[in-house]
Amino acid sequence: MSMSNVPEIYGSLVFDDRVMRARLSSDVYQSLRKTIDENADLQENIAQAVASEMRDWAVEHGATHFTHWFQPLTGVTAEKHDGFITPSPDGGVIMEFSGKELIKGEPDASSFPSGGLRATFEARGYTAWDPTSYAFIKDHTLCIPTAFCSYAGDALDKKTPLLRSMQALNRQAKRILKLFGKEVRNVRTSVGPEQEYFLIDREMFEKRPDLVYTGRTLFGAMPPKGQELDDHYFGAIKPRVIEFMEDLNNELWKLGILAKTEHNEVAPAQHELAPIFSSTNVATDNNQLTMEIMRKVAGKHGLACLLHEKPFAGVNGSGKHNNWSMATDDGVNLLSPGDTPHENAQFLLFLCAVIQAVDDYQDLLRLSVATAGNDHRLGANEAPPAIISVFLGDELTAILEAIKNDVPYEGTEKVTMKLGVHTLPRFFRDTTDRNRTSPFAFTGNKFEFRSLGSSNSIACCNIMLNAAVAESLKQYADRLEGAEDFEKELHDLIRETIQKHERILFNGNGYGEEWVEEATKVRGLSNLKTTADAMPHLLDKKNMDMLMAHKVFTETELHSRCEIMLENYCKTVNIEGHTMVDMVRKNYLPAIEEYLYSLARTISLMKSVSDQVKCNYEISTMERLSELTDYILERVKDLEKALEDLKGYTSILETSEAVRDDVIPKMEHLRKHVDEAEMLMPENSWPFPSYGKLLFSVN
Ligand code: ADP
Ligand code: MG
Repeated sequence: MSMSNVPEIYGSLVFDDRVMRARLSSDVYQSLRKTIDENADLQENIAQAVASEMRDWAVEHGATHFTHWFQPLTGVTAEKHDGFITPSPDGGVIMEFSGKELIKGEPDASSFPSGGLRATFEARGYTAWDPTSYAFIKDHTLCIPTAFCSYAGDALDKKTPLLRSMQALNRQAKRILKLFGKEVRNVRTSVGPEQEYFLIDREMFEKRPDLVYTGRTLFGAMPPKGQELDDHYFGAIKPRVIEFMEDLNNELWKLGILAKTEHNEVAPAQHELAPIFSSTNVATDNNQLTMEIMRKVAGKHGLACLLHEKPFAGVNGSGKHNNWSMATDDGVNLLSPGDTPHENAQFLLFLCAVIQAVDDYQDLLRLSVATAGNDHRLGANEAPPAIISVFLGDELTAILEAIKNDVPYEGTEKVTMKLGVHTLPRFFRDTTDRNRTSPFAFTGNKFEFRSLGSSNSIACCNIMLNAAVAESLKQYADRLEGAEDFEKELHDLIRETIQKHERILFNGNGYGEEWVEEATKVRGLSNLKTTADAMPHLLDKKNMDMLMAHKVFTETELHSRCEIMLENYCKTVNIEGHTMVDMVRKNYLPAIEEYLYSLARTISLMKSVSDQVKCNYEISTMERLSELTDYILERVKDLEKALEDLKGYTSILETSEAVRDDVIPKMEHLRKHVDEAEMLMPENSWPFPSYGKLLFSVN
């Protein structure tokens, strides 16, 4: 498809504002806008009118079904399709869709994880329309973005707490803006997620049970060439990949997803896609859709799209960068330094709110990106460490330093910054974003949280970020609203915040060993290395108090979430462990044995023909391989036992610790011996495609 009709196809499968404005009566449109913009209640007659237009529009665009589309705690999206079709008295059918069906759905939800929230006898949950995220058509189905709750009202999804966290931030940010003399309708957080992924040949993918079952390779010796040459990053994109990207962009554009940049990444076969940012809940829906469509489009091109955080050992893994900011409904970015002293003071206050939030809730941010897959990346010298810190760049840091100490800032002019009086010295945006090792970096007018794994739902980290920033803002508003001298109180507040939270600021190399030492020993920052370490902190009192005070989660929801996330971790590793056992017993050991047989036969044949031959190569290979098979057998038995032992634990906490301390090390041990055997075996005797084949065969 040529670029010229992009404006034409853009959003063509979305029931967006243009469509609503064109198709709904003015009354209905205004009323719906009020619901979208100001969270006003939706009246039933309005819902009915919207539903009926939505159906007509969807049917015109080839839809035959509708579904409430939601994001259960599995991390993927869920949908259950219902036909519009209803029998009519004349024996034919009509296409029906009521206001009730639009607003509320009742999927049989008993098989979605609820962490004990919902006993199976009351298995029904309900889905409720989120009118702030537009409906769209996918596979002839009208998809209605919804939140998913139990009948008791507990959230069973990621969308509900995300919307609540946006509400919390909105509430507090408006209080702050009021203090600066600004009345706005709302403050929304915005996100632009940069998405990394791998593309490999579909046929190769299907030959690897580990990729098929777990999304990553559990075995595989390093190829002669990896990423050492750095020749892939931003390199020319291969023709087959270009075709995929063009097709992908088209599909995303039709769904109103602003896919904007694409390039090769560091590792061979690795790429990145970034959309233009949007409101956080929309960005979350869109990112889930993007991941789904990437996989689907890859399939059409004979490719497999890997979204796992670490598909290949020894090669860079895939992450996701969550670019985040706050803006008012009239489009003012609150993290953009302003031009007047007044605007600058406001900017600094919002900046402080984020710095404080990240320091106070490091653990929540860390656990919001914790999964078994992402544990392979964080702290492995290719991604930010598991330690959370904030990068501001030298200039902004120096400005904060000057404010903190009440000393002149040595910028272009020497001035002692008096907030509300002096303009911020200009610092250059471009100099702020050169530290790729920081997990949380200020990039001129937004923060970029870089610890996310490629398959993470961005809902999780934004829930925590929004809630934590709402908490800082609440404390500031409480203090400033009562202040006698606003300017003075503001100045003191900013100074104190910098003093109190400067330990979280770090502009140095986040990959260095020294940083781990300094961060943990000197600064007292937390270093939660694995999911099993991080997740239980969700239930720390300070975290629960904050999340409940802002009505982001209820106590029951927090308990259930902690349980579900740990369960996901254990299940993931458990499946990986069993897949390894299976591959070793059914494929690797038999393959090595067969080759040993042929070696032994060759040796004995050769020796029977001539007593001059030494058979050094054959004999040494045979001896080492035979030794390795003995090790492999021992290691696989160890792993089987560790997996069996998991059944003996009664709490998920104990199970997750055993997964971390027992199962994972045994998996690594087993892999080492199998990978060594791979190096000694002829390629065509090895049962699965090699790393070289997987990484370099798409052209
Ligand atoms: P960089 O290349 O330095 O990472 P870009 O300008 O390319 O920065 O932006 C990266 C991502 O950040 C894009 O998805 C972009 O839309 C998003 N972004 C830009 N401004 C904002 C903002 N105010 N809020 C949220 N995301 C933003
Ligand atoms: Mg970026």
